[in-house]
Amino acid sequence: MKECLGEIRRTAIVTGGSRGIGKAVALKLAEDGMNLAISFRGNREAAEETAKQCEAKGAAVLLVQGDVARSEDCEALVSKALEAFGRVDILVNNAGITRDGLLARMSEEDYRAVLEVNLVGPWNMMKATSRVMMKQRYGRIVNMSSVTGLSGNLGQTNYAAAKAGIIGMTKSYAKEVASRGITVNAVAPGFIDTDMTEAMPDSAKDKICQNIPAGRTGKPEDVAAAVHFLVGENAGYITGEVLRVDGGMAM
Ligand code: NAP
Repeated sequence: MKECLGEIRRTAIVTGGSRGIGKAVALKLAEDGMNLAISFRGNREAAEETAKQCEAKGAAVLLVQGDVARSEDCEALVSKALEAFGRVDILVNNAGITRDGLLARMSEEDYRAVLEVNLVGPWNMMKATSRVMMKQRYGRIVNMSSVTGLSGNLGQTNYAAAKAGIIGMTKSYAKEVASRGITVNAVAPGFIDTDMTEAMPDSAKDKICQNIPAGRTGKPEDVAAAVHFLVGENAGYITGEVLRVDGGMAM
């Protein structure tokens, strides 16, 4: 099914769409023939490969380099998307980082860096898209949280603070814009196989797997399917929701 508005195609911004979950989201939205503005931080090669794959599925793609922690980069991303495609219907706030360590040993710099990218970043993007979505009286926003934001996790005080913060922020903004036809939801993935989790030793992964009722780790496509549902035309009455995609891990 094409996500069309008469002759106008829906336009989606996916932050951190060059790799991992963001790439899977971009590829899934490309199947609907959308216009895609894909942001990345530094890995241009990966971003270009993702763009090529999305275009092969029928999407028009704009690649924009920038740091979501910088409000001016977020404003530029939205301006470029508007210039290229004329509207912004969907925002997937996916970009994120980890800088793990036990609190006693974690530097303040690592604590702040994770909050800047993972919590301030999505706020910057929601603010940068707020005017256009309100004017359109249409918007679909999905913010990437994590089961760590629900349950906490050893060595992730910074990441858990950001991902729990995302949930409160999602629900608050959902209340502010529901009457304007804009939905704001969060997705909370469990353990998903991407570069972010690649570095973990196999023994730690095996231990995590034992606590996943589904008996396996997740794939980026598992998360992309949930995002695709929430940004679809048919999900217009779902807002302020947190959808776990974790094989039952945080049940
Ligand atoms: P990933 O493979 O490490 O990819 C991260 C993406 O974010 C890349 O596209 C990267 O761009 C981009 N990025 C990083 N910092 C950025 C910044 N400051 N500004 C703009 N883009 C930036 O990560 P992932 O595993 O796919 O995770 C995606 C999201 O899901 C994150 O929010 C993460 O916290 C969340 N999540 C992941 C898991 C998991 O198990 N993997 C679980 C729960 C939640 P470059 O390619 O240019 O570096």
